[in-house]
Amino acid sequence: MELPDPKTQAMIVKLILNKRTEKSLELLSSFYSIQAPEVVVGTIKGKRKTVHAVYVGNQRRIYATNSDIFYNPFVILHEFYHHLRFRGMEHRGSEKSADKFALHFINSYRSQNAIDCQSRANRKRKN
Ligand SMILES: [Zn+2]
Repeated sequence: MELPDPKTQAMIVKLILNKRTEKSLELLSSFYSIQAPEVVVGTIKGKRKTVHAVYVGNQRRIYATNSDIFYNPFVILHEFYHHLRFRGMEHRGSEKSADKFALHFINSYRSQNAIDCQSRANRKRKN
């Protein structure tokens, strides 16, 4: 699957951490040319209590068990993957590939942060 460039991936994670989940989902959705999903707090009957969030395709909604989940990039990106797969194809995609998708973004965020720290350190050394 095509992914945004690492810088954009890092920015998407950063937005979620900065409590701008809606903006982040808009950005992601426009990259994939799909409508953004909605994130709401709520639980779905019959779903295990242990899950943090669930994507309901015919409602285009991510249900989060509490508002902390809104700012959890891993969970949000995992659920976004289901949204993406649901929009693009019939199949929701496997849990494993949803995790992999989310981790991609988080790893980009981590390495981008490492690069930022390094260049800051380099600047300091020069001054
Ligand atoms: Zn899932």
